[in-house]
Amino acid sequence: MKKILIYFSILIFICFAIPVIFTTSFEKRTSSAEVLTSDGNVVEDKEANDISPNAILESTYDYKDYDTIQLLHQDTGKTEELELDTYLYGVVSAEMPVSFEEEALKAQAVVARTYTLYKIVNNDGKHGEADICDDSTCCQAWISKENRFARWEENEQEENWKKIVNAVNSTQGKIITYQGKPINAFFHSNSGGETEAPIEVWGGSGYPYLQSVSTAGEDAYSQYSSEAEFTEEEFVEKIKEVHSDFEINWKEDNCIEVTEYTEGNRVKTIKIGNLELSGVEVRTIFGLRSANFKVTREGGKIKFEVTGYGHGVGMSQTGADSLAKQGKNYEDIIHHFYTDVEITDM
Ligand SMILES: [Zn+2]
Repeated sequence: MKKILIYFSILIFICFAIPVIFTTSFEKRTSSAEVLTSDGNVVEDKEANDISPNAILESTYDYKDYDTIQLLHQDTGKTEELELDTYLYGVVSAEMPVSFEEEALKAQAVVARTYTLYKIVNNDGKHGEADICDDSTCCQAWISKENRFARWEENEQEENWKKIVNAVNSTQGKIITYQGKPINAFFHSNSGGETEAPIEVWGGSGYPYLQSVSTAGEDAYSQYSSEAEFTEEEFVEKIKEVHSDFEINWKEDNCIEVTEYTEGNRVKTIKIGNLELSGVEVRTIFGLRSANFKVTREGGKIKFEVTGYGHGVGMSQTGADSLAKQGKNYEDIIHHFYTDVEITDM
């Protein structure tokens, strides 16, 4: 018992003391509420949602213990120290189209801030001394301002950037909590109308704040539906790469049959030949956009008709934009996708 306590103490020290050591050199930002206009003038005490089109909100929040993050760049293997909100500009602009509604971008900023803080607080040491990486399939995507600008039309760069910066700065310090702790704020591209419980995607015991919820209007986005088609040979080959014992008799009408659906309308289990696979595994094997799919066979080809894009857990980005278009603000959007949570200051 004593040994366990010692190990636990060491763990606590690693989790909290080391990040403090690495971040002591940071210079605290100004804490007075002020807004810098595009011509460089400082306007005092301007309300976050009362800005002229040309104004850009300055970051003024004092993050105390979490003022910087260590970001691992997966392509170079190098770790970079960034101020939290500066990092979030790169996340929001990498993760969500800038053409989305301002309230959807604000929701994305709060979700990304929460996800980042969750990663810092629950650091599993996967990325060494770094808190988070810039790979969307591992942590969350990030893009530098320079690379972001290179992908925008020149006459839209400044206006687009302002929109991103204002989404982050107008929600400064805001995070999503459940029972006082930052939530594991998963998000994805398009839910296909229903989000998914994490237990259906990754197993485990799930999280009370991540329930399946439905959102209207997701079908208006290009991410909503997609198709993938394979010949019988390609189909067999792909499954055999993972299951070498795979066999299928194409003459049987029910040689491919969905046996169970999840609460979020995705394929839970599917019988394919002599195998019973999860919808998530089939999604991976065939590179489908989601586990919400229908399978049809015709003329020696197998077709997947896929609804939604991503794992389906937590906030749907196109759902957030759809809700914003219906007049919801970022707080409404967050409460829609995360059950019984609070939006609090860090
Ligand atoms: Zn990562």
